[in-house]
Amino acid sequence: MCRHLGYLGPQRSVADAVTVGSNSLRVQSWAPKDMRGGGTINADGFGAAWWDADTVRSYRNPMPIWSDPAVDEVLVAARSTAIVAAVRSATVGMPVERSACAPFTDGTWAFSHNGVVFGWPEVMTDLAEQVPLADLLRLPAPTDSAALWVILQNLLREHEPDKALRILVNRVESVSPSPRLNLLLSDGQTLYATTVYHSLSVLRSENAVTLASEPLDDDPSWEPITDHQFVVARPGYLDITDLD
Ligand code: GLN
Repeated sequence: MCRHLGYLGPQRSVADAVTVGSNSLRVQSWAPKDMRGGGTINADGFGAAWWDADTVRSYRNPMPIWSDPAVDEVLVAARSTAIVAAVRSATVGMPVERSACAPFTDGTWAFSHNGVVFGWPEVMTDLAEQVPLADLLRLPAPTDSAALWVILQNLLREHEPDKALRILVNRVESVSPSPRLNLLLSDGQTLYATTVYHSLSVLRSENAVTLASEPLDDDPSWEPITDHQFVVARPGYLDITDLD
């Protein structure tokens, strides 16, 4: 079910962030190790977002990441201290198109969802009712992840990111049977993540932090994050608390 990563630290290229490591995001697109019953490969597109001062820029393609030469030829020139990236395995019934590929971006935010909301779209109608109609009409794609993003954007107008994400997870859990909600949100300064069902690991050094669905290499310093956790990470700072 999709794989994603978030990186904050010394400036590096977006290409590096998605290709370096024996189990890089690009490798995870065709040989993921821990999909937990959520598909087999992540070939339904990919995306990367990075911050250029306060502006978030992104590149997305509905083709498999391994088939896109722009990763090595173009994204090597996109350098940043903050990167969010994802490879996608579309949930059955959801379209394979560029607009459905994470990360979804807006203003300074980038968002990725690894998982599925069972019963979508019906179970999400009550949640969607609280979102201004104009924002619903701007739904980037007809998928559960895009709906989560539009609802989260609305919550972010009223709440701090940690509160907004916790509200979102609680509300979805109250309407959908066992949703899978590994969410990843960043403003380029902090990474916010949740673990609901799917895997997530963290790698910390003095001046960098990486969150990834799977460890990107064999470094024994990768720490797995258990289920139902809320993670806030910055270089030199990591806070993991229960989601409930
Ligand atoms: N359900 C989302 C989609 O189809 C996310 C998929 C995933 O995590 N595999 O885009």
